Amino acid sequence: MHEDETPTYYTATRKYDLSFPSLEGDIEADVVIIGGGFSGIHTALELAEQGVTNTVVLEGRYLGYGGTGRNGGQVMAGIGHDLDAIRKDVGEEGLKAIFALSDLGPQIMRERIAKYGIDADFRSGYGYMAFNARQAATLREWEKEFKSLGSAHEIRYLEGADVRQIIGTDVYKAALLHMGGGHVHSLNLLLGEAKALSEQYRVRIFECSPALAVTHGPRVRVRTAMGSVTAEKLVWAVDSFNNRVEPELHGSTINVYAYNSVTEPLPAELIERISPIRGAYSDIRPVIDYFRVTNDNRLMFGSSTQVVEHIPGDLKAWNRQLMLKVFPYLADVKIDLAWGGPMATTKNLFPQIGTLSGRPNVFYTQGYCGFGVTPSQIICKILAEGILGGSERYRLLSSIGRSDIPGKDHYRALLVSLGKLAHQISGYWHGRR
Ligand SMILES: Cc1cc2nc3c(=O)[nH]c(=O)nc-3n(C[C@H](O)[C@H](O)[C@H](O)COP(=O)(O)OP(=O)(O)OC[C@H]3O[C@@H](n4cnc5c(N)ncnc54)[C@H](O)[C@@H]3O)c2cc1C
Repeated sequence: MHEDETPTYYTATRKYDLSFPSLEGDIEADVVIIGGGFSGIHTALELAEQGVTNTVVLEGRYLGYGGTGRNGGQVMAGIGHDLDAIRKDVGEEGLKAIFALSDLGPQIMRERIAKYGIDADFRSGYGYMAFNARQAATLREWEKEFKSLGSAHEIRYLEGADVRQIIGTDVYKAALLHMGGGHVHSLNLLLGEAKALSEQYRVRIFECSPALAVTHGPRVRVRTAMGSVTAEKLVWAVDSFNNRVEPELHGSTINVYAYNSVTEPLPAELIERISPIRGAYSDIRPVIDYFRVTNDNRLMFGSSTQVVEHIPGDLKAWNRQLMLKVFPYLADVKIDLAWGGPMATTKNLFPQIGTLSGRPNVFYTQGYCGFGVTPSQIICKILAEGILGGSERYRLLSSIGRSDIPGKDHYRALLVSLGKLAHQISGYWHGRR
């Protein structure tokens, strides 16, 4: 256990007892990556698989400190929330190419888990849920779109009483079951990848080593409190935690908070009633409730505020009232743990990758907008292609504009609330309300 560790379901059920030293002294590498969440570790692993192992990962606190160790573990299809928002950047053909990547995230995750024998409780079965006829019509569209990708996994639309085949509640009118998705123990996935990186590929990882300053040039030098890394290429992978260390990136995301909880372990019959498929679910509103059963028979439930951005005083009570709306019969069940965290969010609700202005050797990925567990697998694969010299899909994704969010440092809650309101209204026109 790390000294400053946030108690979450993930830290409580961690299977890898890994820790890495802090950086002391001046070292050299081909690539230095700042941030030890999914983005940093996936990118390092992708590079290692392509033969670049002289990489250093610098993590400011401990691996999984950020969103990676706090999320719902939902494994969903796609990237970004609304591809329409990037149509003007990439055009129709670009949109098709990005949509065609939808199944790649779960595929990479499954392959990595198998290749490195990672113990991450991966389980197939995802239900996208509709409360009303408008949302049900949207699911019908998604069914066609997902099936058009030729997925090897079952994709099935359910409505009325049939919804009960996959979930034990009457609040939903329809569901789209996608067996390509599911859920995963995010922290164990991250640590399993980190173990492979350090043991099989000898990639150097340092914890408790925040990057404090960067000197740019043909070789970049990243300084930490007790050392430095000089490398040909740098990757920023700090998502919500930039804190102005890299000002150009700091300005183009804003933090939105989400909160998660887990119940006490439940009897097997109750889990069977909640989720006959032991799967993961979310509704399709602009701000979703998302939940899943865990390997050890708990219900994990999470959400974010619908419009007014605030941090609830009692996270257990806040999550519990949402959970009881879906599963009223869990009224006597105890919530064991609740936690939350920031999610870097962009104006177009699509993650950002590319290089800094005038600095072709400084790469970045950020802004998954609360949807990073699976998309980070895709994005980091493509980012690694960019680092290794470029690819058509790297050019496509890095061509998407990065807009600043003025006022984010002083009016965060106000701006997020206004953004959520706009998102709720647009959600109505897009069949999500
Ligand atoms: C409560 C919550 C629930 C979520 N639920 C889901 C979900 O169910 N499904 C989904 O798809 N997504 C979800 N997300 C989003 C998802 O977790 C993130 O998009 C994803 O984990 C981002 O990974 P990352 O590596 O980019 O960032 P992070 O995991 O935040 O990692 C960034 C790392 O950088 C480190 N760092 C920061 N500054 C420095 C520095 N100067 N030097 C060195 N290191 C530094 C931090 O300590 C941190 O470890 C959720 C997020 C939260 C917070």
